[in-house]
Amino acid sequence: MEGKAIIVGAGPAGLTASYELLRRTQIHPVIVEESEEVGGISRTVNYKGNRLDIGGHRFFSKDKRILRWWETIMTKTIEDSERELLTINRVSHIYFLRKFFSYPISLSKDTFLNLGLRNALRIGLGYIRARLFPTEELTLEDFYINRFGRPLYELFFEDYTTKVWGKHPSELCADWGRQRVKGLSLPVVLEDYFRKSTRGEDRSKEVEASLIESFRYPKYGPGQLWECVAEDVVRKGAELRKGQSVRKIHVDGNRVRSVDIVGSNGEWTNEVCDYFFSSMSIKDLVAALEGIVVPENVRRIAADLPYRDFITVGLLVNKLEFLKEKGANLLPDTWIYIQERDVKVGRLQIFNNWSPFLVKDPEHTVWIGLEYFCDENDELWNMGEEDFIQMAIGEMENIDMLKRESVIDAHQVKVKKAYPAYFGSYGELEEVRRFLDTIENLYCIGRNGQHKYNNMDHSMLTAMEAVSNVENHILGKDNIWLVNTEQRYHEKVY
Ligand SMILES: Cc1cc2nc3c(=O)[nH]c(=O)nc-3n(C[C@H](O)[C@H](O)[C@H](O)COP(=O)(O)OP(=O)(O)OC[C@H]3O[C@@H](n4cnc5c(N)ncnc54)[C@H](O)[C@@H]3O)c2cc1C
Repeated sequence: MEGKAIIVGAGPAGLTASYELLRRTQIHPVIVEESEEVGGISRTVNYKGNRLDIGGHRFFSKDKRILRWWETIMTKTIEDSERELLTINRVSHIYFLRKFFSYPISLSKDTFLNLGLRNALRIGLGYIRARLFPTEELTLEDFYINRFGRPLYELFFEDYTTKVWGKHPSELCADWGRQRVKGLSLPVVLEDYFRKSTRGEDRSKEVEASLIESFRYPKYGPGQLWECVAEDVVRKGAELRKGQSVRKIHVDGNRVRSVDIVGSNGEWTNEVCDYFFSSMSIKDLVAALEGIVVPENVRRIAADLPYRDFITVGLLVNKLEFLKEKGANLLPDTWIYIQERDVKVGRLQIFNNWSPFLVKDPEHTVWIGLEYFCDENDELWNMGEEDFIQMAIGEMENIDMLKRESVIDAHQVKVKKAYPAYFGSYGELEEVRRFLDTIENLYCIGRNGQHKYNNMDHSMLTAMEAVSNVENHILGKDNIWLVNTEQRYHEKVY
């Protein structure tokens, strides 16, 4: 099998497609990436030797192919002895009412002490009521209440979900919960607690992903793995064009024939192709189609697809000051959910605990990431970098997490379309999918490429399935879209 494939995006999906094409076919991959980096949202930003993981990327998967793939890439080579996959213990808490709760919520003595007897009783009664009188699950609010009861939902899910999505859970589709929270409910949390306390950890049993307690992690962050893949595919013959953006996609006779690409210098080029793999957003993809009649409805749905954007601030702080009053035992946390209602920050990453190699001086400094969810061009997005950093430090002070004097340095990173959102025209996405599937050699892969809340492993699997279809001359695309829809795949709550 020969020819040329244009692959839009050097994120996990695009790089996996390229790697698999080289491994399984004679097709020549040309990867077009609009930024100057590889790894997409899973890249690692190197700020003066301190590495910022955008979001904190756990490497875990239920698919053995993916686990093997990661191991293979991260095996030390003669040229690169830094390749290594660490195994990290996940330690996570919820910070709420200026107190730390275990995550996911457990029935520990601390939880009862933190919440008080009255709240604990309310939660119990609310849960019984929800089980006796479940509501029809139309919204995310219904979904949470059916599984946790109203009091627990109001305490732990309502405000945080609103922070993440900028919308109240009653305005969000229940699909998101089904896909992300799936198996997690009060009984599952209780079972996990009792299993551990009565029989010890039973590692052979499948646990819900929200309860997964260790994960793999590249020594220098997720970006290291994707930089290694990029290096490997280029060595094996792929072309990687950074700083170039695919803007027009020319279709003729139900096949993509060529694309128009604009470089960072403003120069336009046209590139013909035999196959087209897209990890660009469906919104941009549909808008870029030329030479094919796009039904008005499909254009509207794609144009209205919603996204949630993301800003993260890396703060380098003096280790001795950080969390001093809260006790050093909290430092093992990989990340902390900030549920406090009086601040906008959503999560706090402690990168030292993901990998000490992310931090230039892990002995004397703590490198943390403060995460904010926002919409492109809203007030947060448009704030100047310095003002934003000052606001972030002020919030940390306000919730007693650190002192301003302990901050040594700071860096801000903005990420557009970090989350494909499940509201607005999302409910009509199927119509867009059916239309796109009529273009024979177009393969929609990845997270925004499918407008699905895909993790790295799902994004990779969509690429692997697409390459299988090319290799085996399969015209249908169902297998590609089916990744991450099966009910037994679980993910973390937020
Ligand atoms: C906060 C956060 C936490 C996360 N945590 C985890 C985790 O713990 N574990 C996990 O497995 N996953 C996690 N993820 C998900 C993971 O980041 C994504 O699944 C993965 O990066 C998606 O890969 P992708 O290649 O589909 O898309 P992306 O990573 O978005 O890459 C797409 C690439 O395409 C490029 N591009 C877009 N349009 C064009 C164009 N027109 N022309 C050229 N290039 C273009 C972009 O610049 C980008 O580089 C997290 C995500 C977020 C936001």
